[in-house]
Amino acid sequence: MKIETLAIHAANHTDASTAAVIQPIVLATTFERDEDGGYSKGFSYSRAGNPNRLSLENVLAKLEGGVDAAAFSSGNAAGMAVFQSLKPGTHIIAPDDMYHGLRNQLKILFNGILEFDFIDLNNENLLKNTIKQNTGLIWVETPSNPLLKITDIKEMVTVAHENNIKVACDNTFASPLGQQPLKLGADLVMHSTTKYLGGHSDLTGGALITPVKDEWWERIQQIQQMGGAISSPADCYWLTRSIKTLPYRMRAHAENAGLLASFLDNHANVEQVLYPGLTSHPQHELAKEQMLNFGGMLSFLVKGGVVQTERVINATKLFTSATSLGGVESLIERRAAIEGPDTKTPQNLLRVSVGLEHIDDLIADMDAALNQI
Ligand SMILES: *Cc1c(COP(=O)(O)O)cnc(C)c1O
Repeated sequence: MKIETLAIHAANHTDASTAAVIQPIVLATTFERDEDGGYSKGFSYSRAGNPNRLSLENVLAKLEGGVDAAAFSSGNAAGMAVFQSLKPGTHIIAPDDMYHGLRNQLKILFNGILEFDFIDLNNENLLKNTIKQNTGLIWVETPSNPLLKITDIKEMVTVAHENNIKVACDNTFASPLGQQPLKLGADLVMHSTTKYLGGHSDLTGGALITPVKDEWWERIQQIQQMGGAISSPADCYWLTRSIKTLPYRMRAHAENAGLLASFLDNHANVEQVLYPGLTSHPQHELAKEQMLNFGGMLSFLVKGGVVQTERVINATKLFTSATSLGGVESLIERRAAIEGPDTKTPQNLLRVSVGLEHIDDLIADMDAALNQI
């Protein structure tokens, strides 16, 4: 089946007891035993499993072309489960522009427990020289945040597997409509479902998806169920609801982002636009090969400094100044301001999560804002 069909049907179960077409939210924390003491319906206690979570995990696995998924209370909880699943002393190679929340997790929470190097993954020699005897994981995030750099997933997998190393891919920016890392050989996919999968800026969640049920996956499931950073039944319900429209939303996000990127590319007050769909993107050819859709995220550099850049934010009416991404409403953010004093992000860079408003309105609003600086 195609992804649009899976998104609608893979998570939904008509309720056998009431014939309700949409699966109800099961709030019960505990489930009644059979007469023989067993749990033939498959559920015993909701931290271990819940019907809404099972449905969500089922559709997530299908969307990514995997065999199983685990839903967590946030993207960071999903990432944390991956790091916790590694033997103490394991060395991780991660991108130097890794999502800062997970980078800080490694640096602060796993300091002394895991080893890690943050490098430019696109520098093949550096990558090969960074691999050590105890390297167990290469963490990939593509397109990257906020520079929209593309990492060749297939290439990473080749290098990693030659050295007996696993590859995990944070697929939050692309969504499964943008690329399916498991099909390119990755060993694990991670999502912050807070973003495109949730799609409406109203829930926090995370997920991991696996192509095989192996020992590593069993360990991750133990961490999910014993650690307990699970997604609530209601959040799982809202996520499965949102996922039904994900393929259509992603198409529209990418279409709007492409049009806004072209507009910005031709604006006199814009220094540079970073969007994988633009032919001027240094890795456009790789993006075309690897990605099914270029996504809804773009960044651009305003001509001028912090003052002019902040003027653009304050002058726009449709782009809300806020962090995060993936919702139906457009958001804009000066990334350097949130990343703190040690950021390498240019001070005049604005990151935009292009929403689903009409593109004419978005362009008119951005044009007016840029002309005021
Ligand atoms: C938001 C985000 C995360 C973290 O997810 P939360 O749901 O906020 O915990 C991880 N990776 C990327 C790329 C993100 O954008």
